[in-house]
Formats: sequence, C-alpha cells, structure tokens
Amino acid sequence: MGKKCVCQEIQRHFLEVAFNRLKLKSEQRQLLLSSFRETRVTIPVCLHQDGDNVLQTFQGYRVQHNHSRGPFKGGMRFHPDVNMGEVRALAQLMTWKTALVDIPFGGAKGGVTVDPKQLSESELEELSKRFCQKMAPIIGVHEDIPAPDIGTNPQVMAWMLDEYSKTNGYRTGVVTGKPMELGGCAGRLEATGHGVAFLADKAATKMSLVPEKTRVVIQGFGNVGSHAAIALSNKGYKIISISGSRGGVFSDKGIDIGLALALAHVHETGALMGLSGTTAVTNDELLALPCDIIVAAALEATITCDNDDAIQARLIIEAANMPVTHRADARLRKRGVIIVPDLLANAGGVLASYYEWVQNLQQFPWERETVLNRLEKRLNKTYDEVCEFAEQQKIDMRAAAYELAIKRVDKAIKLRGF
Ligand code: NAD
Repeated sequence: MGKKCVCQEIQRHFLEVAFNRLKLKSEQRQLLLSSFRETRVTIPVCLHQDGDNVLQTFQGYRVQHNHSRGPFKGGMRFHPDVNMGEVRALAQLMTWKTALVDIPFGGAKGGVTVDPKQLSESELEELSKRFCQKMAPIIGVHEDIPAPDIGTNPQVMAWMLDEYSKTNGYRTGVVTGKPMELGGCAGRLEATGHGVAFLADKAATKMSLVPEKTRVVIQGFGNVGSHAAIALSNKGYKIISISGSRGGVFSDKGIDIGLALALAHVHETGALMGLSGTTAVTNDELLALPCDIIVAAALEATITCDNDDAIQARLIIEAANMPVTHRADARLRKRGVIIVPDLLANAGGVLASYYEWVQNLQQFPWERETVLNRLEKRLNKTYDEVCEFAEQQKIDMRAAAYELAIKRVDKAIKLRGF
C-alpha cells in the first residue's frame, strides 16, 4: 500500500475510535474530518543540468485543516513522496496536536514533491521562493504559519520569509523555525528532540526504569532523533543503536553520543556505517534488538505488522508522525507495550514554534532556558492530563490524547458557530 493510503488509513482509524467513544453524530464527524482548504500549485523552476538550463515543473501542496482555535499551523516538507493524501493526514494531525497542548493554533501541512538533495543551493532557493510566492495569498502571521519539516530547514524558512516580505512587508511571524538572525527562537532546533527525551524519561520513570540500566534504540538519527539521543544520553540512558535510511549501528556498551562522535560522522558522510566501536545493523535488526525503549524518529509507518513481532522494547516513543500503523499499535498494546503517541511525543516542536511566534509578535526574544523550561512545563502538564484521563477511562494514551484534543476543537467550533 502506498504512503498516501497508509497515512490516511492510520489517521482515520484513530479518529474513528475517538469519534465512537465521544458518540459524535455523522455531521460532526464530517466537519472534523474535512479540510477548510486544500491548495495545489505548480512550481516551474529552471534547473542547471550538464551545462544546460532545463525547465522542471514541481507540484506543491498546502492543506489547511481546521482553524477554529487559531491560525493554521504546520510544517512544509520537501520529499519525493509528498502527495495530497499524505499532506491531508498530517494536517489533521496538527489540528489535534495544537489542541492537545492547548496552544491557540489550528492545523495545516504542506510540501513539494521533490528530492532536495538533487538540487543545488541556488535551485533550492528558487524553488522555495516560487513555492512561497504561490502560497502567499493563503499564509500570514494571523492566517497560516508554515515551519520546517523533513527536507526543509531554517534556511528554507529564511527564503520564504524574504519572498513573503517583498509584497507584505517584513513580518517575521509569518514562518517559524527561522535562523536566529531573522527572529528565530533560541532552542527551536533541539526543541522536538528535547521534548521527546523529556517525555521518554517521564514514561520510563513511571515504569520504574532506571536510566543507567535502560537500553534505548533510536530509529532515525536526523534532527529529532539526534537531539533526543543527546538529551537521553545526558540523562544517563544507554543508547545502544541509532539508524539512518540506509541502516544503523549498534554497540552493546552504548554509543557515546556525548562526544558528538556520531553526529560528526553523520554530518561528514551522511551515513552511520563505520562509526568507531560499533557494528552495522539493518533497519529490521535494529527494531529487534533487546532493549527497553524504541524512539521512532524516522518517517511514517516504519513499525508495521511485518516487523512488530520482533520488537522487544516495553516502551515506544513516537517521535516521528504516525510511525506505528494502527494494526501494529493494536498488536503491540495487546503484548503490553506502552506507546507514547505522536501528537504528544513530538509536540515540543510546535510548542517551540508557538513561542517563536509569540516572541515575533512582541519583538521580545527569550533566553534558551526560558523556552525549554516553558516547553517542559507544558509537556509535563499535558502528559499528566493524558495519563490521568487514560487511567480514569481505562483506555490507552493515544485514545485519551485524541479524545481530549477532539473535545477542545469541537467545543471551539460550537462556540464560534460555524
Ligand atoms: P530528518 O530528515 O532530519 O531525519 C529523519 C531521519 O530518518 C534521517 O536521518 C533519515 O536518514 C532517517 N530515516 C529515513 N527512513 C528511515 C528508516 N526507514 N529507518 C531508519 N531511519 C530512517 O527529519 P526530522 O526533522 O528529524 O523529522 C523526523 C520525524 O519527526 C518526521 O516524521 C517529522 O514529521 C517528525 N517531526 C519533526 C519535527 C521537527 O521539529 N523536526 C517536529 C514534529 C515532528
């Protein structure tokens, strides 16, 4: 099954469970499932290939799902698999995520079907600016605020800010995840991974796991995975394996993330193979390693019915969006595996984006400590709310998180009367 169908199917399943528990009428379900607006644009860019200029046409998307609680908010992804179905499912997830952590935003997602690694720096700049030009009528500080996602970064946000400013004036709050020099937020780059580690530690403590004796596997050593690894390692957890798209590395003694050896290696070669003191593992072998925690920080649908049987971990942290399919989720829960769901686990990213937006509106920057302390406080409160509700209702954390989030969105829709 294609990525498009998987994402939509996963999202639809978890929503149906919550809708049924909440006894929502079909018209309410229809409203909560429908996008406010779905935009598809064509982006022509002149590429320079073998000394020639070749015109290539890319497809760009923005799905604005719901804005009953505030402006649309969500990342822009540059990846070859980007399509309307995937973007739609991820936009919905943003609506529930912003509602769960109770920030005044709705949900959106966007992206371009492109492999950014195949473009030169100037081609990427042209693509980012032309995409923003086409999106300019529907984004805005109080309308829709994009951010980086897979394949995009602070530089892409800087290009989009520049393009938007040409016709709308310099408004830093129109995108988040910007470079510090252009109104970015201290701590934003590590915020998602920091939040993942904070929640992993909370969940592990609840299970009476002791950091020094707890073996952690990190699937996907990109922005989120690497910062989660650093933060968990700083807390004393033993990171025994980390991976990228082409496989990973393993060390029974623990990988020394603290020395940033792994990070440096990734930056130099783009792969993890050959990292000193480690042996190579395939992505399937990594999931089957004897460990206590798996931090799933790669992409959607990496834990499925094809590999869940081999998983030995007692705790899975969904650092990526929708890494565990709904069928694997049911099977893992049956075996007693605790899953901290994506809409809670990686919410540190959108929280930091919210703090960046607030600082931009006030033109008053905060210290990194202020950002990360506020982030931890909010995640702590949300985690406790979710656990308390789950225990009270005798349901799992994901079902509790969805229910709490949907109730907030539904209430806002009713209060506003549309
Ligand atoms: P990234 O591109 O920096 O990192 C992804 C990593 O996963 C890369 O190292 C890649 O090589 C690896 N990977 C890809 N396929 C893999 C596979 N099958 N097995 C193992 N590794 C694989 O992206 P990121 O920003 O770290 O985002 C990761 C996930 O977290 C995405 O689902 C993203 O939507 C989600 N997320 C990111 C943020 C953020 O602030 N960056 C916030 C919320 C959610």
